Amino acid sequence: MKYNVIHRGDEISIQLMHTFHRLVQQHGLIHEEEQPDIVLSIGGDGTLLHAFHRYKEQLESTAFVGIHTGRLGFFADWKPDEVETLADLMGDSARNNDLRVVKYPLVEIQITTPQGIETQLALNEFTLKGVDATLMAQLHINDELLETFRGDGICISTPAGSTAYNKSLGGAIVHPSLDAIQITEIASINNRVFRTLGSPVILPRHHHCDIYPRANQNILLSLDHVYVQRNDIVSIRGMVAAGKKVKFARFRPFPFWSRVREAFIGYEPIMEKKP
Ligand code: NAP
Repeated sequence: MKYNVIHRGDEISIQLMHTFHRLVQQHGLIHEEEQPDIVLSIGGDGTLLHAFHRYKEQLESTAFVGIHTGRLGFFADWKPDEVETLADLMGDSARNNDLRVVKYPLVEIQITTPQGIETQLALNEFTLKGVDATLMAQLHINDELLETFRGDGICISTPAGSTAYNKSLGGAIVHPSLDAIQITEIASINNRVFRTLGSPVILPRHHHCDIYPRANQNILLSLDHVYVQRNDIVSIRGMVAAGKKVKFARFRPFPFWSRVREAFIGYEPIMEKKP
């Protein structure tokens, strides 16, 4: 089994990386930067997003796992003091040629410009915002106009990203076994003149949405942690990526809802459990 490590660059993460190299190499794992079977991210969710974008062209052959050092670590579910257990379990998995993974859906966007169509993937979400004025855009679902949006922007997230920016925008948390994307508004203007639905919308696989910004508008487009400013966008189509998923290596069970509770609630309920 070949592995690589992507870390946040702080002292704790770098130390952990050295420990991890030593431990897994004792189990016969091979360090390989270009074509790893497993990528260990040491840091936070931001570090895992970087790892995802580095290896997004080889998702079929690469699985991700994360140790979190200090921040939220929703994706990165191993703690620093568990590095030895993780290395042992990876060693077992390599010896038995048995790598268990869970697969989460991604959002694909197709950006149409006068020059052609570009395709991009995001693990959490993509957002569209106005730069020097509010965003004005038509939102179509399955080729029919839903609304004309005016406000700060629009966020389209994956189930994995539903606990990130989407959650701050009042979107629902969606289990990643559902192949879906969620559209949430970022501060829409709602009055007699401008009207939007106001509720998050969840689209299943095989549905798509198209955003048509007002012509020549300066737009800030984000794909996870990557931000770019554009003024050549004719439209953006968002949909569940067909045939592409991100794989997370699972060396022990850690159900999604336990992860949600640990990340956002973080304490044991004080009420007795019902019989
Ligand atoms: P950042 O601003 O440094 O961190 C954003 C926070 O979101 C961090 O606490 C990060 O966890 C957490 N996070 C990332 N993905 C998550 C997920 N899937 N579920 C739960 N929490 C998650 O930015 P960054 O580290 O470069 O990450 C980029 C992400 O920030 C974007 O994809 C977007 O989702 C999020 N964001 C959120 C807001 C908001 O909530 N108002 C605004 C802009 C962007 P760690 O601490 O473990 O890294």
